[in-house]
Amino acid sequence: MSDTVEVLTARDVPLGGPRAMPVRRTLPQRARTLIGAWCFVDHYGPDDVARTGGMDVAPHPHTGLQTVSWLFTGEIEHRDSMGNHAMVRPGELNLMTGGHGIAHSEVSTPDTTVLHGVQLWVALPDRDRHTARDFQHYAPGPVHLDGAEVRVFLGTLAGATSPVRTFTPLLGAELLLAPRATVTLDVDGGFEHGVLVDQGAVTLSGTPLARAELGYVAPGDTTLTLTNETDAQARLILLGGPPFGEEIVMWWNFIGRTHQDIAEARQEWQDASARFGAVEGYPGDRLPAPALPHATITPRKNPTRH
Ligand code: MN
Repeated sequence: MSDTVEVLTARDVPLGGPRAMPVRRTLPQRARTLIGAWCFVDHYGPDDVARTGGMDVAPHPHTGLQTVSWLFTGEIEHRDSMGNHAMVRPGELNLMTGGHGIAHSEVSTPDTTVLHGVQLWVALPDRDRHTARDFQHYAPGPVHLDGAEVRVFLGTLAGATSPVRTFTPLLGAELLLAPRATVTLDVDGGFEHGVLVDQGAVTLSGTPLARAELGYVAPGDTTLTLTNETDAQARLILLGGPPFGEEIVMWWNFIGRTHQDIAEARQEWQDASARFGAVEGYPGDRLPAPALPHATITPRKNPTRH
């Protein structure tokens, strides 16, 4: 059905923290809020940690969402208010469910010289957005195709299925494309998809995508064809899911449905409520929430295709 790919370009955003590592954000943006339940796509690096200071995000809360950490290079130390102390390493999924409330810190380790990866969020559907906090880890083995290597961290692709539990159907995979290779992947026609280019230059179903761009494909396509246009390996992140169908309110680290949801979560974080719990072992203070805007926070629009 749909042959056209919508190209979403990144904007540079300083990540929270005193040294503010820069990230490239492709979701959300004016043209698009969601791809399936994927609602946040930050892409960073390769970052010379000696120059930028790397990642140092003090304890902060989340509600109504899951966070997906996926690294290409480097290592991040994760601590959360469930007592999890985990190392995020390349090729290993760390999926944290905020649900009703969680707090965590993320710090690149002293041994990390280059930091390179993505930080993604998944919106929880209304029926599950107050679920219990949770943390899952999964290291998918590679699937070898002609011209590509695929690691499926969420959902099903190329005959591989991730065992990790999500609240809506999702696809999340890393793809390595050999130089000049073309691969055609069978995908769920009920899903919309996004392809983020980490490294190289590709065409997605005929549309060129440069590094750090996110190509969006509407539901209706049952195959995606990707071509690496370069003489070096290309690396991509493929995301997908059925259209989310709910309007969400996103502010700071919270997802709700109304301004009131956000205002309550913010106040409870400021009050150090048990809703979020405490992060042990981070050497420093927790992040204070910014001031709420004076205007009512309204749902983000997710326009259908133009
Ligand atoms: Mn976070």
